[in-house]
Amino acid sequence: MTKMNIKKGDTVKVLSGKDKGKQGVVIRSLPQKQRVVVEKINMMKKAMRPTQQNPQGGISTIEAPIHVSNVMLVCPKCNEATRVANKRTEDGKKVRVCKKCSADID
Ligand SMILES: [Zn+2]
Repeated sequence: MTKMNIKKGDTVKVLSGKDKGKQGVVIRSLPQKQRVVVEKINMMKKAMRPTQQNPQGGISTIEAPIHVSNVMLVCPKCNEATRVANKRTEDGKKVRVCKKCSADID
């Protein structure tokens, strides 16, 4: 399985689809599916069953997962959409590195 370089809390830029060019924060990552859920991106209408909180049920808009290949990490240091490199620090920890400015992202 390919490890995802994007995780919860990251800011990403959308590369394709109806939200192309927009940025958002990853609110959930689904490594098995190689997908992420990004705040306010790829909104889909979904029929909701009635619940105690929402006895009427009805239609609600929620974020649908998008494939990681359709987003790119935005580096918090240089603010550019970038590819990510992985490196191991001296004490053996894995960190992600911005390929544009070489800053550690984690
Ligand atoms: Zn950077």
